[in-house]
Amino acid sequence: MKIAVNKLNTIMKVLSTSKPKARKQYTCEFCYGKIEKNEVYSSQVCVYDTIYTFRSHLACDKIANKLQMYEDVNEELSGYDFHECIREEFRIIWIAKDTNHFESKEFIIPSFQDQLKFVISNHIN
Ligand SMILES: [Zn+2]
Repeated sequence: MKIAVNKLNTIMKVLSTSKPKARKQYTCEFCYGKIEKNEVYSSQVCVYDTIYTFRSHLACDKIANKLQMYEDVNEELSGYDFHECIREEFRIIWIAKDTNHFESKEFIIPSFQDQLKFVISNHIN
């Protein structure tokens, strides 16, 4: 069970996790992309003041675990944290691969979704 403590010392608890098939279209809480109807996604029922369901793509949940995002946050892992972390990871990987290109004026930073795909493909086979 993952437990995070926020600044007010309220404890966020994950009551259950599952991988259901989407009955309708949802928005991924991490990347803000669409979870399509019938797509299998990651669902966490959490309690944090109120009970709510945190839905994300399986790949987004995987990369969050892989990059240990849950360990780095003092409070609930939000979409904002996720975006920050992916952008940073993208920069690190790209600079290691191709420093000159990254620092040149011609380098165009890809969209967040493309950065995410790049980071996932570099970490998960
Ligand atoms: Zn996602």
